[in-house]
Amino acid sequence: MSIPLLDLHAQYENIKEEINQAVLNVLAGGQYILGPNVKALEKEIASYCGVKYGIGVANGTDALMLSLVAYGIGPGDEVITSPFTFFASAEVISQVGARPVFVDIDANTFNIDVEKIEAKITNRTKAIIPVHIFGQMVNMDKVMNLAKRYNLIVIEDACQAIGAEYKGKKAGSIGHVGCFSFFPTKNLGGYGDGGMIVTDDEKILDKIKILRVHGSSPKYYHSMVGYNSRLDEIQAAMLRVKFRYIDEWNEKRRIGACLYNDLLIASPVVTPFVADENKSVYHLYVIRTQARDNLANKLSADGISTGVYYPVPLHLQKVYANMGYRAGEMPIVEQMCKEVLAIPLYPELHKNDIERIALLIQQSFESE
Ligand SMILES: *Cc1c(COP(=O)(O)O)cnc(C)c1O
Repeated sequence: MSIPLLDLHAQYENIKEEINQAVLNVLAGGQYILGPNVKALEKEIASYCGVKYGIGVANGTDALMLSLVAYGIGPGDEVITSPFTFFASAEVISQVGARPVFVDIDANTFNIDVEKIEAKITNRTKAIIPVHIFGQMVNMDKVMNLAKRYNLIVIEDACQAIGAEYKGKKAGSIGHVGCFSFFPTKNLGGYGDGGMIVTDDEKILDKIKILRVHGSSPKYYHSMVGYNSRLDEIQAAMLRVKFRYIDEWNEKRRIGACLYNDLLIASPVVTPFVADENKSVYHLYVIRTQARDNLANKLSADGISTGVYYPVPLHLQKVYANMGYRAGEMPIVEQMCKEVLAIPLYPELHKNDIERIALLIQQSFESE
């Protein structure tokens, strides 16, 4: 009996009627771009996060990129972010012509080490992109204090963290803008690509709304060179169905994670650490062990899928080879890339599957 890392089909089976109906309603409604479902989802997600505005865009990468563009960040500027994230967090910085500046991470949370940010701030630094990795938020008090002192823009990469909390505040609601991805594997995923920006900043809202439709307002009157980056109406309709379940699903992930934590307490693997001020949504359940590859192979032989997020820190990616970063420069993240292993965790995963996986992990070390 094999267990995938994530089972989107099982989720679809549970909500099939509602999803199918939502799609049919859009098809029958006749409004396929920026229609009522996009507007409603923008309101619903903004209100959920406790901010004023939401802007649906084509994907999470565009959410980050349009935010950078809206704040005028470009060539000659530096933007600080984590080297331990999906490439898009840094890619967007390069895309707008700015320089990504990486800061080593905290071994416990896997998030950017907020104590090491200040040393990397220069007079060219314009923004920080804190990435709430695996569903746990960065220490945002520290980030916002630095941002105030150095006059920096904070763009939260909350793509893995919808619903997560830091001191009772939702992911995406603390920085100048928050960015979400609705890629199918995210905690709130569509059936295709999608993304959203949330903000209280009215000026930025207006600018991003213009940027996402070719820089035009009204239609056919272009005040800037923009992009075609809209959230599909049909995706928004399906996302609105799934959004009603997000708290329940995130809670199920937390319950599964707690069970793993308890079952693995005596095993040699390091289980995820969540800071007291945080509520994680466990986008991924990531354990650590120096015997990572061996463990992954053994689990695979028993039909258990695992994943390595992430195998290469961003400062050592080939594409950034000419940026002057060296191996050994960020020892924590480089070590983590060798030790991390994501094991199955999703709302539909059964308790006995978690028990079986935990037992197999235990046994993999006993047979050494
Ligand atoms: C998924 C993800 C993105 C990009 O989102 P897309 O919708 O795939 O463009 C950006 N940052 C992080 C941390 C992500 O996990």
